[in-house]
Amino acid sequence: MVKAVVFDVDNTLVDFLKMKNAAVDAAIEAMVDAGLDIDTDKARESIFKIYDEKGIEFQQVFDEFLVKALGKVDHRILANGILAYRRAREGVLVAYPHVNMALMELVRMGMKLGIVSDAPKLQAWMRLCSLGIDNFFDTVVTFDDTGKKKPAPEPFEKALELLKVKPREAVMVGDWAERDIFGAREIGMYTVFARYGDSFGTKQSNADLEIDDIMELVPFVERLNAQGKTPDV
Ligand SMILES: [Mg+2]
Repeated sequence: MVKAVVFDVDNTLVDFLKMKNAAVDAAIEAMVDAGLDIDTDKARESIFKIYDEKGIEFQQVFDEFLVKALGKVDHRILANGILAYRRAREGVLVAYPHVNMALMELVRMGMKLGIVSDAPKLQAWMRLCSLGIDNFFDTVVTFDDTGKKKPAPEPFEKALELLKVKPREAVMVGDWAERDIFGAREIGMYTVFARYGDSFGTKQSNADLEIDDIMELVPFVERLNAQGKTPDV
């Protein structure tokens, strides 16, 4: 019997890449406007290279970018960049289509809902609250809660413990095959690959189900429970 559905946040509930791209572009435009002399394509490349090295949540990305571009941090340019980034981020932080509807329907079916995110605690909560979906979740496990990132078992196990369900009573939904799907499978959860959030061109997710719309979760959970594939324990 499936009793809980656990979600990744970025690129599963939130269109994170869309937000990141738009916010970075706005920051570059503002820094150029403030006097930075740089080709915008080169700037974008340099910034995302820093994200690749330091992690996509790296907070000093523009400081480091300016050191590379100018040999120092110009604080007027930096401030303009950060402000533009923040303004753009608020405007483009959106949930994927039907997220609200799917969460509502799962709750109506009696599912407990959880989050397992590798994002820092505050960033994860900011995104959930900004979308107005924070109240749907019984538990939110972030990187800060276990100090481990997916696919390590700890974040998944922590969420299941807090939700008071066993692995075979829970479905994990995520966009990153090597982390969300592999990690959840390893501990025995059902897995659903959010194909709509895939930015890696994943060929084989190894998930129990691949979805192009989050609403597909509803019949999947119904089917699992109707088939009695998941024995009550
Ligand atoms: Mg993700």
